[in-house]
Amino acid sequence: MEIRTRIAPSPTGKLHLGTARTALFNFLFTRKNGGKFIFRIEDTDVERSKKSFETDMFEGLDWLGVNWNEPKNKEVYRQSERLDLYQKYFKELQKSGFVYECFCTPAELAQERKQMQQAGQIPQYSGHCKDLSEDEKTELRKTKKSAWRLDVKKIAQLKNLPQILKFKDLVHGEIKKNINEIGDFVIIKSDGASIFFFAGVVDDAEMKISHVIRGEDHISNTFSQLILFKALDLPVPQFAHIPLILEKDRSKMSKRKGGHSRIFDLRLAGYLPQGLLNFMALLGWSPKDDREFLSLSEIIESFDLKGIKKSASIFDDDKLNYLNGLWIRHLDDEELLNQFLGWVEWLKQHGEDYSRFSEADKEYLLKCIAICKTRMATLRDFLAADYLLVDPKVDPHLLVFRKSSPEATKNGLEKIKLALENYQGDWEVEPIFNLLSEIVEKKHLANGDVFWPMRVALSGKEGSPSPQELAWVLGQSETIKRIDQAISLL
Ligand code: GLU
Repeated sequence: MEIRTRIAPSPTGKLHLGTARTALFNFLFTRKNGGKFIFRIEDTDVERSKKSFETDMFEGLDWLGVNWNEPKNKEVYRQSERLDLYQKYFKELQKSGFVYECFCTPAELAQERKQMQQAGQIPQYSGHCKDLSEDEKTELRKTKKSAWRLDVKKIAQLKNLPQILKFKDLVHGEIKKNINEIGDFVIIKSDGASIFFFAGVVDDAEMKISHVIRGEDHISNTFSQLILFKALDLPVPQFAHIPLILEKDRSKMSKRKGGHSRIFDLRLAGYLPQGLLNFMALLGWSPKDDREFLSLSEIIESFDLKGIKKSASIFDDDKLNYLNGLWIRHLDDEELLNQFLGWVEWLKQHGEDYSRFSEADKEYLLKCIAICKTRMATLRDFLAADYLLVDPKVDPHLLVFRKSSPEATKNGLEKIKLALENYQGDWEVEPIFNLLSEIVEKKHLANGDVFWPMRVALSGKEGSPSPQELAWVLGQSETIKRIDQAISLL
């Protein structure tokens, strides 16, 4: 049997981290075992579905490199374009007498639910409309729209379903539910739209999906879907429900702007696709040997559904920053710079303009990124190094090391300036460092009156690469100029 998996998001928001992680696991599973990964947009909820969200999902997965095989050429299947198919299967259910019309209003249903809860029962549809006569239905149709419900008891009887429904989940093992706990559920809403889990069953069968790998929040839908598969005599795929992702305080991930629950926000924050992908793979899964820094091909190589944990995974931003930093240092300077410049272009499309970087000389930027990468956790950290491109704003207070005085600082900077003006050796990091050390030694100065103020004079920052690295990038005359400017501030 060919392995076929799918990601089936509803385009009702930007690509969520959880959805992207589900897509990744499906993708990994097919890549590992040889098979096809399918992208299907579940947009039957016309009110809430938006084309822009669909585009965001499409772009997000593409950016991460989570590529799908079907449909071809980076297209997607859309449920909104397959309505005839759902109608065909719906007619079959109608013909078998497995569905009935329901005229109950949301208010009536809410009232019914409340009464059941008060009586200590599990709330489910009472079957109120199940035995309406043809005349009653004709009368009701004049004023009300109807939804269609599945007659669960009838299906159970005619299809010999067991009292205890069960399926073997590839993550959780056997999961059971008493069929009595499943009320007659709606599959076609009163506006005529199919409910996604009905359309999903039809599509999973039509697309010959062998493994449904999705979030744990769908476990209860699985039982309803099992009944549908049986009612339509369709083959039941295997299921693997992956754990939810929670915040550090174990709360649900929030969608607040600037947060980290959406791929778009994480891209905006400057994470590399490689770093994010590495992090996402470890959300709920780990390789047998517990390695953490993994490339996509290494993840594919060791991926196994058995490695998925049953408990919820926690979003740890320290770990994401750590892994992303490792990836930043792993890439060679040129590759890193290209990714950075591509990201700057992308930022521009989203309203942030850093053309100062895109217009800068590439050779110069390569030197800049070489000295900055050891301190970077995200690409955004490199934006903070724009003092390498324009004169920094220097706070005179910051120039003075905490154990020093303005006078001693000024003296230190003057000595450096003089030494640099007379310096004729190679303009490389190590000789510049040696020169600074020599000044400290020969002039009996404190390190804090040489290295600290020079670094601040060149960067204007509390934290930056070392003064010798900054000087190396800026060049001899620019370095002298900036030191001179700093002296005038003291
Ligand atoms: N459309 C559903 C969702 O976005 C997914 C359904 C499924 O994976 O079966 O949650």
